[in-house]
Amino acid sequence: MAIRLSEYLKSIYGEKVYRLSLSSGCTCPNRDGSIILSDGTRLTGGCTFCSEGGSGEFAAKVAPISQQIEVAKKRIRNKTDAGKFIAYFQSYTNTYGDISGLKELYMDTIKRDDIEILSIGTRPDCLGPEVLEMLKDLRQIKPVWIELGLQTIKEESAEHFHRGYKLEVFEEAYQNLKELDIEVIVHVIFGLPGETKEDMLDTVRYLSALNPPLDGIKLQNLQILRDTQMYEEYKKTPFHILTLDEHTDLLEESLKLLPDKTVIHRMTGDGPRALLIEPLWSLDKKHVLNTINKKVNKYF
Ligand code: SF4
Repeated sequence: MAIRLSEYLKSIYGEKVYRLSLSSGCTCPNRDGSIILSDGTRLTGGCTFCSEGGSGEFAAKVAPISQQIEVAKKRIRNKTDAGKFIAYFQSYTNTYGDISGLKELYMDTIKRDDIEILSIGTRPDCLGPEVLEMLKDLRQIKPVWIELGLQTIKEESAEHFHRGYKLEVFEEAYQNLKELDIEVIVHVIFGLPGETKEDMLDTVRYLSALNPPLDGIKLQNLQILRDTQMYEEYKKTPFHILTLDEHTDLLEESLKLLPDKTVIHRMTGDGPRALLIEPLWSLDKKHVLNTINKKVNKYF
């Protein structure tokens, strides 16, 4: 059986652990022109679904880190009396930058008493030897999660949305991270243009067969956001957007495939309401969660 993230955290920490959305100040090599494809093309626009916020619109953009953490904690404490936190660096590519600055940032973060887990979103092509060395040191202190936006194993789709790296780059990074006992969480998007249901489930099958087993997964439906390249593509050549029922079916099939103890971090897209073009059903969060839970509860 898979495990919901909330239950997984409760089983370890005995209480709810809250995410603090933080900013490392990194950019993304897929946006600044550092990635050059074999045909000489320089990627500058990022993944075509990615908005200006780097797929993390809710991050607190205040430096230094101690201030960011206090601001983010205050936001949460307005609603709860939370005491344990995950420092979550979501936007852009958080291992892409000056390594000494990154080391200082993450060390200062992970050593705090209120931080239980350091969670870093990045790309598999930004996990070179120096970064791995840094992660190894951080892992000696507390758990470190690395989140990788693979989205699909179908190379054609990855090229279409300008991911900018091949599956083998993911495979190498995955093995390197697992050797360091880092928890790896992979992001998957259902509903990429041109993908069939079997293509999407092939990605889940592939991830289910990883050895060592995958720690966690985010299963998200594609969201078309305003001011993205994908929105322009969609306006010119509309493609099928998954219905809630189709997405829920994919979740159910995925939960049947994933190995026991895979932690499910998300089951829907989390784009900002203000930018959302499609699917409009994802605006009704309560209905979406009720529909999904009704169908998938038996797999947890
Ligand atoms: S989704 Fe991530 S990797 Fe892709 S352009 Fe946005 S920040 Fe970069």
